[in-house]
Amino acid sequence: MGSLVLPLPVLAIILAAADALLVRWTQPWRAAEVGLFFHAYFLWACFGLVVLWPARLTLRFLDAHSRPWPAPGYDARPWIVLLGWMVLPVAVQATLDGHTTLVGFGGLAHARPWLELGGALAGGLAVLALLGRFLGNVPGVRTASLGVVLAFGVGLIPPSRAAPLPEASHAARPNLLVLVWDTCRADKLEPYGQTRRTSPRLSKLAEQSLVFEDSLSVSTFTFSSHLSLLTGVHPSTHGAHLGNMRFDPARASSSASLLAAAGYRTGAFVGTDVLSGRTGIRTGFEVYDDQVDPSVCDTLAWRCVHALQALAAQLVPALRFNGRPHWIQDFQRPGDEVLARAEAWIRSDDPRPWFCFVNLYDVHWPYVPEQGGAQLVRPYDGTVDGFLFRSDGWQPGYSMRPADKQHVNDLYEGEVFDLDALVAGFLDGLALERGGTAVLVTSDHGEGLGEGDTWNHDDVREPQVRVPLILRLPEPAPRGVRVRAPVSGIDVAPTLLALAGIAPPEEMEGRSLLAAATPRDAASPSRRGGEPEPARERWVDDRDHMRAEDYRCVLYRDAFKLVRFGQGAGARYELYDLASDPAGFTDVRTRHPELFARLVARMEERAAHANRGGSGDVRDNDVRDNAGDSSPALRALGYAGD
Ligand SMILES: [Zn+2]
Repeated sequence: MGSLVLPLPVLAIILAAADALLVRWTQPWRAAEVGLFFHAYFLWACFGLVVLWPARLTLRFLDAHSRPWPAPGYDARPWIVLLGWMVLPVAVQATLDGHTTLVGFGGLAHARPWLELGGALAGGLAVLALLGRFLGNVPGVRTASLGVVLAFGVGLIPPSRAAPLPEASHAARPNLLVLVWDTCRADKLEPYGQTRRTSPRLSKLAEQSLVFEDSLSVSTFTFSSHLSLLTGVHPSTHGAHLGNMRFDPARASSSASLLAAAGYRTGAFVGTDVLSGRTGIRTGFEVYDDQVDPSVCDTLAWRCVHALQALAAQLVPALRFNGRPHWIQDFQRPGDEVLARAEAWIRSDDPRPWFCFVNLYDVHWPYVPEQGGAQLVRPYDGTVDGFLFRSDGWQPGYSMRPADKQHVNDLYEGEVFDLDALVAGFLDGLALERGGTAVLVTSDHGEGLGEGDTWNHDDVREPQVRVPLILRLPEPAPRGVRVRAPVSGIDVAPTLLALAGIAPPEEMEGRSLLAAATPRDAASPSRRGGEPEPARERWVDDRDHMRAEDYRCVLYRDAFKLVRFGQGAGARYELYDLASDPAGFTDVRTRHPELFARLVARMEERAAHANRGGSGDVRDNDVRDNAGDSSPALRALGYAGD
């Protein structure tokens, strides 16, 4: 029987080099990491050790049933057998992975993924057979040396750099900084009435800014909402949602693209894998820094380990770490790292004005304050912690007491305090307030913290959609102006364009916040119809669900809020009067039958428009496509609406 002593390390080097090269090739926008090849090598070597036993059994079987292969010459069987076993699990995972989504394995219930897998395995065997012929005709050591040298060189090739955009004149164009405090609800911030000291730095910024008191997110799903911030259109128009995490530039223009075309340098720095550049959201950004985890996590080898972890955690709940199936890799990068990258980019030597888009994921579940934030947590003798229902210590069936809810609120407020401190260091370090830079702070959605027993952000209750929106204009700027006009996340993109002196594209559904801040302009005829608009309609398209009956659509008009639960024939509606019931829990549709009918008709009209192919509501075929996904089981994997 041939020896596996030489093949194992050599194959690990070759596979690691190929894997590292693939990462560079598929994600050229990412910064080079010297350790990538070595980390990948470690993983592939581990794979080799794990499959050593089946490889030996296979070789023993071949010894008994075949001659040295191919004869006469060097016996290549150990190489071929070991390579096959090392690549097999990765090939299976990589093939099937294309048919799953963030929360759904439903795609695996069809024949196609398995046919693809069969094809991939047959193709792989053919390649191995050809390799066997080639390797059989040259001495093994020489082949190995050549392979190692080639692989090592290939694995260390630096990443390609995007060609710089042509410079354009930018006199008087301000720099644009957008800070998205992910999952940050407005009422936990001092500029929005919070009486505890959660956000001293944001208060200082607010004193120099326009503070929009009535600001809504357009979705409670991170990816959809961020795309709306960038494109100025509702999620139903850009079409991205939990079951379709892709940005299609044909459906909407990103403000990043428009600013880049106008001569801005554009950079985005994100703290969560939900906003991975692979989704296409990086369109228009010269630099898109989404390196949430070490780059080795993007190799085929790591993805296979990752899938095995998730599978194991689903089968054995004890393997979950506070609800998370991945004990090494997570969805999140700490805000200080994100801000450090953004600051380095802002400081880089480039004369063009810049647009910097930053996502800070720190306030998002789990609520684990550190540093100063822990001081906001009052003494508590219960068992609930910041991991909530996914905590390893959570007792199934336990009903939260008021003291538990207060504790969770304390933890959340502590996280807000910590993030505020991080942002303080960032803003003070750059001295952005000296002029020349517009700073916009907002969030992609809020968070339920026990109101009406709603938690997280998988519904459309007031705490889940009310977000901060603070705009500090470059000099000369109004100071400490509070704006009551109703605004929305889709207003961010047209505002950025207005600040840069760029006319918004016709399809943009939002309006500039600068106009909203000016009473005279706010009362002017609407941009499209030319008819005077008595009250602004604002929509929340919630697609953070995989089943049609869980969808929400919300229409805000004046002080009223209409919510549609579900979709199609099974849909039901509720109406809330936020003037008398600011939390929005009491259904008043029987008290206002005429208004209720009018708002329902308006929502149905929007849905019908969408089904004819226009923008507006969710399309029926989207619903059918996603209805087969088994979200409850997969939510147990640790995903609960990020
Ligand atoms: Zn989010």
